[in-house]
Amino acid sequence: MRALLVLLLALPAGAQTFQRQAGDAALTVRRAFAAYIKKRVPLPPPPAFAQQLPKRRVRAFRDGWDEALRLLRDEKDCRGLYAKHGFGFDEVVKTMSSTNYAFYDLGDASIGAETLDRGSVFINTRGLFVTVQDGLITLDRRHYDLGDASDVRAMILLHELGHQLGFFGPDHGPGLEQANAEHSLDVIRACIPGGAIPQIL
Ligand SMILES: [Zn+2]
Repeated sequence: MRALLVLLLALPAGAQTFQRQAGDAALTVRRAFAAYIKKRVPLPPPPAFAQQLPKRRVRAFRDGWDEALRLLRDEKDCRGLYAKHGFGFDEVVKTMSSTNYAFYDLGDASIGAETLDRGSVFINTRGLFVTVQDGLITLDRRHYDLGDASDVRAMILLHELGHQLGFFGPDHGPGLEQANAEHSLDVIRACIPGGAIPQIL
């Protein structure tokens, strides 16, 4: 997105000069934009839900899904987190695309989502995936700013992906808060640049 913004900002600067130069600048921008789009791998659509969902839930899921897939595609270290455990990009996408994601009231608001098995993930209707407003999160009493709500949702899906693929161990229950935070931080360090810096609120 950053590269695209720069390209679009370059357009008015070109247009201020002679008409011909402006034409050349616009052409350069168009060509650069076309090249930028071309090298992007399109993001796969989210899997269909088995349950009937309110539109706002579908939108929230789509938001987290798109950002998770974008991070996997665009952040080398993010792909690397899964690759180092033996799961390449295609396998990761296949796992996520064939996952049955379902929204349930899991009671405890501190749970964002829970993985049942490789192909099933519950998203807590009371948890952060649904209630998130901005990028601020708290992990084991420390605060972090992931940027925005999409990144928080993406982080939750990518955290669950670590459980689905079996390289994150159990981290749910008394005494496991630190393990849970470490799993989230593993994802944040790899996938969300700058997100692992502790914040003073
Ligand atoms: Zn976990």
